[in-house]
Amino acid sequence: MTDPASAPAAPASPGFSWPAGSRAAACFTFDVDAESAILAADPMAAGRRSVMSHQAYGPRTGVPRLLGILDRAGIRATFFVPGYTAERWPAVVRSIRDAGHEIGHHGYLHESVAALSPEAEEAVLIRGLTALDAVTGQRPSGWRAPMWESSWSSAGLLVKHGFGYDSSLMDSDLPYLLTAGAAGRLVELPIHWSLDDWEPYVYLPDLSGSGAIASPADVVARWTLELDALVAAGGLFNLTNHPFVSGRPSRAAGLESLIQHARSIDGLWIATCDEIARWVAQLPLEPVDDRRPELPAADGPG
Ligand code: ZN
Repeated sequence: MTDPASAPAAPASPGFSWPAGSRAAACFTFDVDAESAILAADPMAAGRRSVMSHQAYGPRTGVPRLLGILDRAGIRATFFVPGYTAERWPAVVRSIRDAGHEIGHHGYLHESVAALSPEAEEAVLIRGLTALDAVTGQRPSGWRAPMWESSWSSAGLLVKHGFGYDSSLMDSDLPYLLTAGAAGRLVELPIHWSLDDWEPYVYLPDLSGSGAIASPADVVARWTLELDALVAAGGLFNLTNHPFVSGRPSRAAGLESLIQHARSIDGLWIATCDEIARWVAQLPLEPVDDRRPELPAADGPG
């Protein structure tokens, strides 16, 4: 086990810096999927009342508990909300807004856009914007691909519709500028499966998980290792939780202890995704080119 304090720093990114007094950053994010993620995967699940209640736990019970934790910690977080969730749970989504947290775009019905045409992807983006505007009166500055499954069209569509950042890609410890062809550029706030609560915790028969549900003690220990190592590397700790998952009591308590640990780290900037993206957008960074790999010719050498 490497002592995080002695772990090697990340390769230097020319032009990158954190605000004065900060050596790393953390954002606590919540994807308010509720019913949408399951309905997108299997529309017939709408008829399974117990499955729908498992998802409704998020807005009904998890969100209020998580808002209390964030309030006690005195930090602001980012909640990525599908348009369908906003329409089905408008009072809950407004309570997130009214508590001072950021609301980001997370699709309409939690669609995977990787398989959509650019036109269909844009229609989903607009439908989600319309729903969030109707419920919150706000236009989000950030987007997170449902299932972290974005497309090669996503960046250009986000720039076209005025977004400032994406949080769906996995190729860096640091935020960076992402090119979107001729459309312009936006900030990327990278994520990773190891910093998501779905994989260790979720079990829904026939829908998700194996039934092996991890202990919050183990999950929080893993996240703490990554937080400490990312701080040593000067990176961004971008944690994704779901209210229907981590809103449950022992998981929420574990998350609260992790937030307390983060707050005790000297020089760790805890901020919303929007705040971090605005900082990064004005740095003198060389943008990362976003190009789809070319497949080799089928008749090449064997
Ligand atoms: Zn989601």
